[in-house]
Amino acid sequence: MYEHDVLIIGAGLAGLRASIEAARMGVDAAVITKVHPIRSHSNAAQGGINAPMTDRGDEWEGHALDTIKGSDYLADQDAVELMSREAGDAIIELEHMGVIFSRNEDGQLGARRFGGQKVARTFYVGAITGSAMLQVLYEQAIKHDVNFYEEWFVSNLIVEDGVCHGVMAMDIHTGELQMIRAKAVIMATGGAGRVFEPSTNALICTGEGLGLAYRAGAPLMDMEMIQYHPTTLAGSGILLSEAARGEGAYLLNAEGERFMKTYAPDYLELASRDVVSRSEQTEINEGRGIDGNIHLDLRHLGRTFIEERLGYLQEVALEFVGVDLAETSIPIRPGMHYIMGGIKTDINGATEVPGLYAAGETANVSVHGGNRLGANSLLDTIVFGRRTAIAAAEFANSAERHSSDESMLASEKARYQALLDRPADLRSAGIRREMGESMVAGIGVFRDQKSIDAATATVKELRSLYQRVAVDNKGKVFNTDIMAAIELDYMLDVAHAICAGANARKESRGAHYRTDMPDRDDENWLKHTLVYKDGEGSRVETLDVTITNWTPIERVY
Ligand SMILES: Cc1cc2nc3c(=O)[nH]c(=O)nc-3n(C[C@H](O)[C@H](O)[C@H](O)COP(=O)(O)OP(=O)(O)OC[C@H]3O[C@@H](n4cnc5c(N)ncnc54)[C@H](O)[C@@H]3O)c2cc1C
Repeated sequence: MYEHDVLIIGAGLAGLRASIEAARMGVDAAVITKVHPIRSHSNAAQGGINAPMTDRGDEWEGHALDTIKGSDYLADQDAVELMSREAGDAIIELEHMGVIFSRNEDGQLGARRFGGQKVARTFYVGAITGSAMLQVLYEQAIKHDVNFYEEWFVSNLIVEDGVCHGVMAMDIHTGELQMIRAKAVIMATGGAGRVFEPSTNALICTGEGLGLAYRAGAPLMDMEMIQYHPTTLAGSGILLSEAARGEGAYLLNAEGERFMKTYAPDYLELASRDVVSRSEQTEINEGRGIDGNIHLDLRHLGRTFIEERLGYLQEVALEFVGVDLAETSIPIRPGMHYIMGGIKTDINGATEVPGLYAAGETANVSVHGGNRLGANSLLDTIVFGRRTAIAAAEFANSAERHSSDESMLASEKARYQALLDRPADLRSAGIRREMGESMVAGIGVFRDQKSIDAATATVKELRSLYQRVAVDNKGKVFNTDIMAAIELDYMLDVAHAICAGANARKESRGAHYRTDMPDRDDENWLKHTLVYKDGEGSRVETLDVTITNWTPIERVY
């Protein structure tokens, strides 16, 4: 029997930060993760983490305004205000914990300028910011005696009478399924990038957390808001961090022209990501691309600078394209990167399902709205990871221990057994690829009713084919085949919710750009979309955006 006060699913930055705070609150906290904690996708974050530092004259209001404008006024302004106000202290605390942020010539924390912001307020550790933060938070979690279930795969939640009481999970080493009870559960399962193909996200970013919460009755909010990052490698979809443009790299079209001057005369390459990606795609569509790409040019920065400040990017360019960034420009294009949408939470991480909380990329407290600014996601994980743990620990302190019905475990075991027993037929990988490609085609940088309908129809068809998915590996030890089949089950729900959100929003805002409805419509659509599971299907509701100090105006860069 496994039992805790607060159980956190996910050991990325959101989950680890939450676990430290829960331990500080004196509750019995545990983290469960399908990969070793420092293999979580947070490890891949290169560019940095934003924070307005008031002692340097950068007031929180400036960061809040940039974030809200970046979101195309879809972010909830109370949540943004909280994040901006808490950011400075959060960075200093990380520094004190041991994150060795890069420093400037004066020995102060150094900052680079990221997209959609006029001020350099992105703090970084070379080009390995996420990795440096994750290592430190993992050490801190161990120091705080947090319990870890490493390489355990959560495949279902224990939900009774609409309340969440824990999870059902497979110990990947043995294949054994167990119930792990908890008074409060925090979903910190990261993004769902792999619902798209290609994506900058690690292969583990399959988004079960979204599917689990959705099936438990929590709505998914603004799922149509998919971020396409302006600089990903053609073919592989691997990311070249915004740090390149933050440090001064140019974007060039086939004529060798810095075309961003046409689209964002003031911010140029450092306009918000949705704007830059649309500009690139327009150049490509209008015949000014280079083999379907745009070029990213760092040559003028010089070899020493590139190797010191952007060493990891140089490594990726050499290894995957054979390009030396100091000598040659590199072909890039917009690629799926991040989901602004997620499990709807309040500003304390509570979902609509009692006992279930969410933080990090899987959650939508709504600080990113229609478009996330680069380096605001790491900030979101730290600020809301902490806040969510406080709320979850308080809930746990007032909740009774619940003894759940063991028959739930039996039915979860039967679900695995059915996959094992099914004779060889369809494989999950083929369905996953088709889903991913149709999502990029239908819910892309540009979309319209026809493309949304096509993606919706493909996802529906793939859902019916899912009944025929079988697994070849019948073994117990490290059966990643069966995990992939169960991940796909939830990914199809996530894909469905994205299509439903895209279909519902009859305007263009942020990353949701409909060529058939190109204008933002504040009169009717200053609203979030909420997708609820409803029987075998879904229903979409809307919710007003929280506006406090910043009146929506036209967004130009
Ligand atoms: C290549 C890349 C570069 C990026 N660079 C930046 C950047 O410079 N700045 C920035 O702000 N943002 C950046 N981002 C975005 C940012 O890194 C992520 O949004 C953020 O790190 C997500 O953190 P998280 O804690 O929510 O989730 P993750 O770090 O993705 O962790 C998810 C955790 O959930 C666990 N999990 C998931 N499903 C299950 C399951 N079924 N059972 C058990 N465990 C499960 C995983 O094991 C993992 O531990 C980048 C993203 C990518 C892909």
